[in-house]
Amino acid sequence: MSHLVTIGLEVHCQVKTRTKMFCACRTSFGDTPNTHTCPVCLGLPGALPVLNQEAIEKTLLAGLMIHCSSPEISKWDRKNYFYPDMPKNYQTTQLDQPLCIGGGVPLYDHCYPTDCRKSIARPGKVVRLTRIHLEEDVAKSTHLGNSSLIDFNRAGTPLMEIVSEPDLESGEEAFAYLRSLQMILQQGGVSDADMEKGQLRCDVNISLRRNATDPLGPKIELKNLNSISAIRRAIHFEIQRQSEDLDRGIPQTQSTRRWDDDRGETQLMRTKEDAHDYRYFTCPDLLPIRTAPLLDKVRPHVPELPHELAARFEHSFGVTRYDASVLSSDRHLAAYFEATLDPAIPAKRAANFIINNLLGTLNDHGTAIDACPVTPAQLRALLLLVENGTLAPNQANEVFATLYQSPAHDPATIANALGFKPAAAGELEALVNQVIANHPAEAAAVRAGNEKLLNFLTGQVMKTATTKPNPKQVTELLRQRLL
Ligand SMILES: [Zn+2]
Repeated sequence: MSHLVTIGLEVHCQVKTRTKMFCACRTSFGDTPNTHTCPVCLGLPGALPVLNQEAIEKTLLAGLMIHCSSPEISKWDRKNYFYPDMPKNYQTTQLDQPLCIGGGVPLYDHCYPTDCRKSIARPGKVVRLTRIHLEEDVAKSTHLGNSSLIDFNRAGTPLMEIVSEPDLESGEEAFAYLRSLQMILQQGGVSDADMEKGQLRCDVNISLRRNATDPLGPKIELKNLNSISAIRRAIHFEIQRQSEDLDRGIPQTQSTRRWDDDRGETQLMRTKEDAHDYRYFTCPDLLPIRTAPLLDKVRPHVPELPHELAARFEHSFGVTRYDASVLSSDRHLAAYFEATLDPAIPAKRAANFIINNLLGTLNDHGTAIDACPVTPAQLRALLLLVENGTLAPNQANEVFATLYQSPAHDPATIANALGFKPAAAGELEALVNQVIANHPAEAAAVRAGNEKLLNFLTGQVMKTATTKPNPKQVTELLRQRLL
């Protein structure tokens, strides 16, 4: 029997700041363990925290981007628990007056898994958010046999917790939600949101019930999910597992489970009876924040969201919807595309070249767009050579490949060196006349209307030419002579 699925996500996302949330230690990834620490982030007795304004501003920026509101006063609370990765025995977080409330994340079509983009259940869906609050990350522990190692470099890194309403209904929607959110946070420069680096982590709450009129079923929480595709797999497994239990009359109890990606199954960690009482209380060391002045400061920095960018690319520049979605999927790529544009180059052609050629080459080299050796100005110069007839499109591809390897040279010089240059005045005309004279039968056939033979004659001219002229230009000359 089928069940209604209700899913809510809690996403922890490291905010991209230079320093930690409550001290001046540098935020870092992959550095020698325990080299970015101080009495504050080590939790030594008597150390006092200082708020990181950049982290607060970036969290408010994220909130503005997805239409959250903010309470007038936001405050800090202590969540008390003991764990080796949190030696203060409390985490500084926000309980009842978080920085952002409400808002929503649009699920972009191109953020769904590729295999189900043609069958999206609810296109244009927006997942409502409950809140976004700011807290500190804990240290990173690594377990080796009987001992555990702790790295405090991560302790105190600003961490946003983004809590959704239970609006999601499938693993595919959870997948699209995380990808869309990731894209939005990257767009605003709020976070790199790289899951492989642990910058984005997610807990899934999932419950099943028979009818829409039934109360929500007991909440099962899935912890320790570390990739977007694993989250989709874990949700599929859990829907299946709970359905089968319910069909056999086994009731579910509120509990926390862990996903084992190797075995492809979830395992019980603890039930509600073992839940902590965190004994929250207001942090006595940190003053509450008035949000209005900070919001005023941040508001001018709200960027276009990916879907707004895509709509502008589609409508102002006439690129296809697909191209617009690709170009808007990364803020560096969008900026690169816009910087390449020139009134003399059709935007569609620039989009094509970037998507088919540039992205392919970057992909082959494992290079990110913001590290692309070819500048937008160089690409523009190359595309202008195509527009003015100096280069044929396939010649432009060759010039680009060389340019990518030796970006110190300009496209015109490279085109020249490869022999792609217009023939000297009169030279091309002489060649065309020569070829026509040497192939009277073919020339006559073209005159009689067989335009296909123009390609043959063009080929003959290209073969005889000492340079490599633009074949389009040659065909045009032949056409003028013969038709
Ligand atoms: Zn520190």
